[in-house]
Amino acid sequence: MASKKKPIKTEKNKIKKQAIPDNLIHSELVEVRNSPIHGRGVYATQPIKSGTRVYEYVGERITHSEADRRFWKKRHDDGHTFLFVVNRKTVIDGSKKGNDARYINHRCEANCETITEDNRIFIEAIRNIKTGEELGYDYQLTWSESDTPEDLALYQCLCGSRKCRGTMLDAKSIEQHLVAERASRKRAKARAASKKTVKTKSRATTKKAARKKAARKKAVSKRGRK
Ligand SMILES: [Zn+2]
Repeated sequence: MASKKKPIKTEKNKIKKQAIPDNLIHSELVEVRNSPIHGRGVYATQPIKSGTRVYEYVGERITHSEADRRFWKKRHDDGHTFLFVVNRKTVIDGSKKGNDARYINHRCEANCETITEDNRIFIEAIRNIKTGEELGYDYQLTWSESDTPEDLALYQCLCGSRKCRGTMLDAKSIEQHLVAERASRKRAKARAASKKTVKTKSRATTKKAARKKAARKKAVSKRGRK
């Protein structure tokens, strides 16, 4: 992991409801080796089918302010970070009590994705992976419009793929995400309000329909009695 920032998964981070697997702390499917992309990487030791959950991303669960403190403290030394944003309250620090999931590198042409489930993070194959292939997912690192171009340049991507975006940063800044979030909340509110009007209308329609139905029933039972 070359990141100094918190890998925040946004749109691509699917939220699924399934039975949570008990133990994905270790994986027989992969091994950690030196990577040409960056530092160490995680490689398939056998074919991995699309949809397979390879790891749970574990580590110490901390608050955002603690994560920021650790991030700024480490910033000038090794350039590695294993901070993973779970939600508005929690960040997982993979460098403390973490597993090998923290060595999975960023890849623009990702073969894995991260999934949030009950405030836990899982790494899942999104296509069939061959033996010897390096695993990777799109980090979508958080960044702010107040970051300097020099700061942002540190997150240049060297994945070497033809589809390389050139950066490990998320396409949108935190500010843009907030604006989008606010807009979607507004839309949801407007939708809920218009649904209410429809509901009132439909209740009246239902009453009318119920009266009609009752009338029909009466007619039927009348006919039945004959
Ligand atoms: Zn790339």
